[in-house]
Amino acid sequence: MALHIRCGTLFTGAEDAARANQTMVTDEKGGLAFVGPTASAPKAAKGDTVVDYSDLFVMPGLHDVHTHLAYGNAKTEEDIDLYQPMEFRSIRGLFFAQKCLAAGYTSICSPGDAGQISLSVRNSIDFGLFEGPRVTAAGRYLTTRQGLTDWYPTWIGVPDTSIGKLVTSRDESIEEIRVQAKNGVDCIKVALDGVQRRPDGEFIAAFTQQEIGDIVTESHRQGKKVVVHARGREATLYAARAGVDLIFHAYYLDQECIDAMLESGSAIGPTLTFPRNIVDFTRPTEPASLKGRIGDVQREYETACANLRKAREAGIPMMTGTDSGFAVTPYGEWHAREIEIFVNDLGFTPAQALRAATAVTAGFMAKGASLGVLEAGRMADFLAVAGSPLEDVSILQDKSRIKHVHLGGKRVAIPEREYDTYKVTDIAWTNWNDLYTQERVTELGLRPARKGTAVTP
Ligand SMILES: [Zn+2]
Repeated sequence: MALHIRCGTLFTGAEDAARANQTMVTDEKGGLAFVGPTASAPKAAKGDTVVDYSDLFVMPGLHDVHTHLAYGNAKTEEDIDLYQPMEFRSIRGLFFAQKCLAAGYTSICSPGDAGQISLSVRNSIDFGLFEGPRVTAAGRYLTTRQGLTDWYPTWIGVPDTSIGKLVTSRDESIEEIRVQAKNGVDCIKVALDGVQRRPDGEFIAAFTQQEIGDIVTESHRQGKKVVVHARGREATLYAARAGVDLIFHAYYLDQECIDAMLESGSAIGPTLTFPRNIVDFTRPTEPASLKGRIGDVQREYETACANLRKAREAGIPMMTGTDSGFAVTPYGEWHAREIEIFVNDLGFTPAQALRAATAVTAGFMAKGASLGVLEAGRMADFLAVAGSPLEDVSILQDKSRIKHVHLGGKRVAIPEREYDTYKVTDIAWTNWNDLYTQERVTELGLRPARKGTAVTP
């Protein structure tokens, strides 16, 4: 029994313009059997369902290539790595994956998560146990000394419940890739740069050119794509030369990086929503402000936009992702902000940004060739939106405008369930944001009057 969808305006993702008066017809496997003018569409047979979206804007389901299902809207690295059992994190990840789907994100990649959380969430959805988006799953980040996710002192190391897996040699890297491949990940995540900088301020790549080359070779040999975290120029260059499939951030890229990407075919996932939200939302009393981080993030954002514009103009494919899973990027809330940033800060037209968030980003996803574009032979993953994102892409962040989400043809219905944000996520032992010396107490006007302890009746 097919579904016939009457579309007033249809943006297929295959071209920049939207088409009027179109109809899509699904097949029995949740795919699209027909997409074209209503006048030439097959007639609805007995038992078929016809839905009328003639006053709505129909477009492919959105893709976020950077949503960490294990993080749980974390406020600290300890929240991410330590405080909840892995089993709880999986269940929580499933709950939050559903929030992404409800926001119109029919496909997400979870690039780096503790244990086997992402692939367990993926399987529970793929096997029909729960409703949820299509999940492209990675395992733990491969990291090395000073790489991102090796953020505790050496005497603590990288705990087993961490999102990182410390590999200290080529052989350990290869072994971890093979373990993850056997467990069934879709892609391998590598923390290619981290926190250390040279005296001139440049980030130092955590792995050498040779090491990342070997990691990519073995991952590709296992049929797995590679995605890396690389803010710095050096890590971006190593990744591009090694043929990494997707480079997150690439904020300090230069012409040499662009040339290497053009040569090897690497794409960039800028993930600018995360720093943008940090700058826009962090309040003056919060630790990130008190530690003076916000100005740095703002400067990095501006540098990143200037560099990424050059990469876009050179023809490097760009994919949409948000680093959702932090307190400033809660699941289901800001995914579509990346589309707006592509338009406002990277020079995309609205149509180009929508195609980035659909057809282009689908290119990294597992089974991506069947996603991202509404045409016969691909999956019937689509949204019906009130208003035209081609006129204003920011409307995609307005949940009231996402009228219907269909996954494999079926309309999804995720309940709006409230939850205890404190118990679910916020468990780090941070009690104070300030240091209460006598001077500071006086400055803040907190010094108690010397009234004694008598209680006034
Ligand atoms: Zn990330």
